[in-house]
Amino acid sequence: MKENVNHIFNLVNKELERQRNSIELIASENFTSLQVMQAMGTVLTNKYAEGYPGKRYYGGCEVVDEIETIAIQNLKKIFNINWANVQPHSGSQANAAVFLSCIKPGDKILGLDLTMGGHLTHGSPANFSGKNHQALFYGLNRDTGLVDYQMLEQTALQQKPKMIICGGSAYSRDWDYKLIREIADKIGAVVLADIAHTAGLIASGLLNDPFEHCHIVTSTTHKTLRGPRGGVIMLRHDFENPWGIKDNKGQLRTMSQLLDLALFPGVQGGPLEHVIAAKAIAFEEVLQNDFKVYSNQIISNAQTMSGAFTERGYNLISGGTDNHLMLVDLRNKNLTGKKAQEALEKANITLNKNTIPFDDKSPFITSGIRLGVPAITTRGLKEMEILKVVDLVDRVLTNADNETEIKLVRKEVLSFMQEFPLYPELYFRQFS
Ligand code: PLP
Repeated sequence: MKENVNHIFNLVNKELERQRNSIELIASENFTSLQVMQAMGTVLTNKYAEGYPGKRYYGGCEVVDEIETIAIQNLKKIFNINWANVQPHSGSQANAAVFLSCIKPGDKILGLDLTMGGHLTHGSPANFSGKNHQALFYGLNRDTGLVDYQMLEQTALQQKPKMIICGGSAYSRDWDYKLIREIADKIGAVVLADIAHTAGLIASGLLNDPFEHCHIVTSTTHKTLRGPRGGVIMLRHDFENPWGIKDNKGQLRTMSQLLDLALFPGVQGGPLEHVIAAKAIAFEEVLQNDFKVYSNQIISNAQTMSGAFTERGYNLISGGTDNHLMLVDLRNKNLTGKKAQEALEKANITLNKNTIPFDDKSPFITSGIRLGVPAITTRGLKEMEILKVVDLVDRVLTNADNETEIKLVRKEVLSFMQEFPLYPELYFRQFS
């Protein structure tokens, strides 16, 4: 037993070393602060707290009530909103609760196609969203790489979906929330903005504000928001539900009540109070001025990176980025996304293969890669270092079959990343 437990801690230390020694370009990842991580490894994990602060199904919840209330208050301050639920275990759970609260099985939904940058929970046939609902999709314009709002409008007016979803996982441009709401209003649809990727940039006022126009906003907390792995659901203003949706007992409820009920008991059981404590701390960090500096650096680093790739002859979907990520079309480089990802991994550069709009290759092969800068920006890389990252990536991609060159790049990556220490004091001790 002891040996096996220690084996797990050895593996955790191995993962710590992997993170320290890699250039992390996965757009959905980040490095939380030590205080955020510490909150997750506490006695709060022992506590059952089904329900919400002040209305729990278990005794002994006075402490977690206080913690969850602080998390909610902090999140409200960040986005200038008047209602939030911080219990979703993940972004997917947050979206599941929105679906459960607003629409019925079989109802039509309209989201960005997964192969064009959408998310599984926006209608993929492999996901609850596509299995339980009739999923319709809009895409990107073939020439511009931008969301095809004309297609969105045409599909919405013809098909009359009950819900329109905006936001995505691999879209590098900002969203026209105002236009989407105008379209939705023509057919009485709910607008859900899923800001999982861009929440931190929105919090810092660097991208359009979805709360002004969208009925409901969901997010993850672990990407640009730099918190623990988890989700949230938010409303700027609570409202009487205009769609006349009723709860299980046939009662009309406000939107916030419907969402609370949909998450618990609809989708989840007990909340993860240790993660909620970590969310409260991460939200406190977002409220500091430093976080704005960080978000600005993300944008500047992403623009430096996209400019440098373009100069080296790489084709970027939509020609660049407004946010923290970019999608590179590798077809003119005679490489697949899979091959690129594997070659880069050998050089300790981590990113993911990604379909590009109108890709003729499967999601397992793909013609593109997605790169994001939130994690390396947290490590302290600025414009000069971003140019070096682009050079290292380019050297691997232009020598994808040259093991000797890849080994040389790996050596450079190792010494380069030592200049940006990650959790320098951290070590997970063995238990005896
Ligand atoms: N929504 C979007 C847009 C995402 O990018 C993601 C995750 O990548 C999610 C939802 C789901 O989040 P999770 O992995 O926490 O379920």
